[in-house]
Amino acid sequence: MEKASASSWRRMEERYNLLANECKNCGAVYFPQRIVCRKCGRHTKMESRKLSGNGTVYSYTRTHSPADAFEEESPYLIGVIELDEGPRVEGHIVENGKEVTIGTKVRPVFRRMYADGEEGLIHYHFKFAPV
Ligand SMILES: [Zn+2]
Repeated sequence: MEKASASSWRRMEERYNLLANECKNCGAVYFPQRIVCRKCGRHTKMESRKLSGNGTVYSYTRTHSPADAFEEESPYLIGVIELDEGPRVEGHIVENGKEVTIGTKVRPVFRRMYADGEEGLIHYHFKFAPV
């Protein structure tokens, strides 16, 4: 398992709390956060904003050959979710017995992702579940 880099630890608060930022000049929303707005080039108007985590399945695929850490969950869905606020994020999709297709409305759920070895640190992260 790859060790978390210093920058990924710095990004953890942003990721766990779904903290985006919004350009108050043009309304663009960024997750992960950006310092300078890609649309209008302003950097003085960026404000932190918590995303709902609610969104729509933009694309997805069923993984049958998972990364080592996710072997016990295979097969599982991974996809791109278009959040209601605009940004697209990649994430696992929990089916919960419901059919998932492009356009399915989803909400965030906090789930175990993987453990580092048998007695290792257990990592939790958002996954998405059908509404
Ligand atoms: Zn802007």
